[in-house]
Amino acid sequence: MCDMTVELAERVRTAADSGMPLHLHGGNTKAFLGHPVRGEALSLHDHSGVLHYEPSELVITARAGTPLREIEDLLAAEGQMLAFEPPHYGDTATLGGTLAAGLSGPRRPWAGAARDFMLGCRLLNGRGEDLHFGGEVMKNVAGYDLSRLQVGAHGTLGVILEASLKVLPRPETEQTLVQERSEAEAIELMNDWGGDPLPLSGACYDGDHLYLRLSGAETAVKAASRKLGGEAHPDPDRFWRRLREQELSFFRHQAPLWRCAVAPASPPLGLDAAQLIDWGGGLRWLASRQPAERIRRQAAEAGGHATLYRHGDEATARFHPLPPPMLALHQRIKRSLDPQGILNPGRMYPEL
Ligand SMILES: Cc1cc2nc3c(=O)[nH]c(=O)nc-3n(C[C@H](O)[C@H](O)[C@H](O)COP(=O)(O)OP(=O)(O)OC[C@H]3O[C@@H](n4cnc5c(N)ncnc54)[C@H](O)[C@@H]3O)c2cc1C
Repeated sequence: MCDMTVELAERVRTAADSGMPLHLHGGNTKAFLGHPVRGEALSLHDHSGVLHYEPSELVITARAGTPLREIEDLLAAEGQMLAFEPPHYGDTATLGGTLAAGLSGPRRPWAGAARDFMLGCRLLNGRGEDLHFGGEVMKNVAGYDLSRLQVGAHGTLGVILEASLKVLPRPETEQTLVQERSEAEAIELMNDWGGDPLPLSGACYDGDHLYLRLSGAETAVKAASRKLGGEAHPDPDRFWRRLREQELSFFRHQAPLWRCAVAPASPPLGLDAAQLIDWGGGLRWLASRQPAERIRRQAAEAGGHATLYRHGDEATARFHPLPPPMLALHQRIKRSLDPQGILNPGRMYPEL
């Protein structure tokens, strides 16, 4: 438990004065995402500690460097969880890095994304000013406030110092069913069942098998399990954890790994690629050496966008290029929060 606010603010102010870019990092587990940042390292790792957790209020507030594992263990001891099921990608994952990366696990379509659970935060802007946004209760967050903007901004809009997150009770019971299916069948079924009042909390297809996770009250899970059918998975927690952490054999491909967020009912993308589908059809992971433009076009035609996630070459843009009006908007937001452009410049786009 350590408060580094004063030192961190001083470092940012000095960098702003000299125009020296800063490369923010927490546990360095997601350093492979986006483009490398050339700048002085600013570590948030030691700025840690849970500041407030009252299980009856369903809110936790912690400093950015707090290990994600510590937060999850604390919640689990009270029968609660981070419902967006964030990937760790390593033992040293921190709360700040998790929020900055804005990643959500298999439960996302049913529970919500990382951004939806951010209630408020304290951050340093690019002038080293210590700012508070949002609060610790849901009703403070009307619409899209600046704390939510930090989620997925990869540290380009501020140094997250502290964050308050909404937490949820863990389900009473869970069961995972496995069915052998074709890709087209799996997509159709995931979408049909996704529209039914079923206690689904995960739906993934690995190329041969459809995996369906049911979570909730025991009677509801049993009834849904009878309706859907299939074999009960012998070790479901391990399966969903390995999916979330990209430890399944699919993720051992050495071809570029693409993350395509698309409309869930999109038919198979029809690219020459190994594929794994998550989020009930909404997330298509592709291991493919196809040209980036082709993959991006297919993802856009399917109502979404494609991010080059791992094994990319230096020259290919990691994030889906923004249309000019959207880029101009991003640039205005960046300028107002980080006028000297010193916070993780170029991490997402060269212009930001
Ligand atoms: C249940 C469900 C239904 C959906 N239905 C639809 C639908 O009907 N139509 C549809 O279009 N999509 C749909 N999607 C996809 C959804 O819109 C994307 O998941 C969403 O755009 C991504 O937002 P996110 O906040 O999860 O960011 P993430 O996907 O986590 O974003 C990752 C990073 O990419 C960046 N990014 C996000 N969007 C873009 C973009 N467009 N261009 C460049 N960079 C970007 C973000 O800044 C962020 O840093 C659906 C997804 C789900 C799970």
